[in-house]
Amino acid sequence: MTAYPTLKMLINGEWIAAGEAGTMVVVNPATEAELGQCPKASPAQLDAALKAAGDAFEGWSRTAGAERHRILRRAADLMRERADMIARVVTAEMGKPRAQAVGEITSAADTLDFLGEEAKRRGGRLIPTRGNQLIAQMVTHEPIGPAVLLTPWNFPVNLPAKKIGGALAAGCTAIFKPAENTPASAQLLVECFVDAGLPAGVLNLIYGDPGPVSEHLIVSPVTRKVSFTGSTAIGKQLGALAASHMKRFTPELGGHAPVIVSKHADIDRAVAMCAATKFRNAGQVCVSPTRFLVAREVYDRFVAEFAERTAKLKVGDAGADESVDMGPLAHARRVAAMEAVVADAGGNRGEVVTGGSAIAGKGFFFQPTVIANPAPDSRFMTEEPFGPIAGIVPFDTIEDAVGIANSLRYGLAAYAFSGDLDEAHYLGRSLRAGMVGINQLIVSSPETPFGGVGDSGFGSEGGEEGYLAFTDTKLVMLAKAGG
Ligand code: NAD
Repeated sequence: MTAYPTLKMLINGEWIAAGEAGTMVVVNPATEAELGQCPKASPAQLDAALKAAGDAFEGWSRTAGAERHRILRRAADLMRERADMIARVVTAEMGKPRAQAVGEITSAADTLDFLGEEAKRRGGRLIPTRGNQLIAQMVTHEPIGPAVLLTPWNFPVNLPAKKIGGALAAGCTAIFKPAENTPASAQLLVECFVDAGLPAGVLNLIYGDPGPVSEHLIVSPVTRKVSFTGSTAIGKQLGALAASHMKRFTPELGGHAPVIVSKHADIDRAVAMCAATKFRNAGQVCVSPTRFLVAREVYDRFVAEFAERTAKLKVGDAGADESVDMGPLAHARRVAAMEAVVADAGGNRGEVVTGGSAIAGKGFFFQPTVIANPAPDSRFMTEEPFGPIAGIVPFDTIEDAVGIANSLRYGLAAYAFSGDLDEAHYLGRSLRAGMVGINQLIVSSPETPFGGVGDSGFGSEGGEEGYLAFTDTKLVMLAKAGG
């Protein structure tokens, strides 16, 4: 039984259970049972959070980097201590198996460690002058100011941790709005910062309807930076709003990652890795490997082995059964979206080799699905499915495969498997994406930048880029006072 916390917002260091704009219900996607009632912030409560972040900025931005690091490191340690308890809530709210949730929390803690260290490590530059004058040309990275952090539900701890870690390490204060269906995961993360000694007002947590709340926060004159992870359509809307108010904006958006499997690849290894990784988090991962482009010489074997592994996955309520490989989708909308993708691939437009249907009964379950040879103009091949559906397409030349891979406007992650060194270099150079994995399917670590190109967004989180994203570059030219 999961102990689901009473949901509270955090405004200026005070936990507030009463939402002046009413409440919304949070349900367990595996059972559809109510988990709790989430308070919704009124415009006045949003203004209180903005004021708190604005007022706290002066003090926090002047706090020594070593002290900011100490607090972030302590928060990371608390997350590790509480990982099992937080993971149970993550599973209850969005359905992923507990081992995956624990891995997410551990990774989030490592990210906080790294970004906190950046607060101590990150200096500026001293640029030589052109003439002989004694002028110091100093470049520094100044915290931008209060940041609005808008996060989705698929990694309800790690995605916020990247944004909160970058903002706080750089000396910014923040107003954090998590997804409507994962508020408790967010709250337990924020509690770690509070218990680590973060001063009041530096990090504020609010809940509410995403459209009006985001708009209110973005247009506020207090806000200086907006960081959003979610769909491309919403990212474009929020980006346009941020631009019209001259706010810095970092969008981490959708993807439809291609995986090229060359005839020179270790096919057994590639198929085992691809089938396991595709269905992690029920495929609800922006860098999920999804469009499998396989050399015709090995295509039939790849399809058969991928489908065989997929059909063996155990789907169920991961909160009740630890042996489950794949939990439910996060909400009913995702099941309807999967049904639409499969329906579009029917007839002679693709063959559903395994899966293809919602699972009857309570919960938002959909079978792990493999579609062989979906038509080039099918919904599957052109729109991000963001769920447990893989499509496999044969190709004749490696150049053809790169052409298919690069044919969409998305450009988040791309992958390839090849044992030929020259071909691997060609693929690394040619795939149009923010992150490319060759002979492996991991493109994320606390130390490395994470971000996309094209319709997948711009800018990066994680790595030193994740710290610099919350800074302005400043030049100070200092000359002798006289003589
Ligand atoms: P959705 O667009 O309804 O919601 C996705 C997220 O965006 C939620 O967290 C929600 O709070 C937020 N959101 C929705 N409308 C908003 C608005 N007007 N202003 C601000 N935030 C808003 O879609 P969904 O069915 O919940 O999720 C599926 C879609 O979301 C997919 O298309 C996928 O691309 C995208 N998504 C992407 C990521 C990612 O990691 N890039 C994560 C989750 C969802």
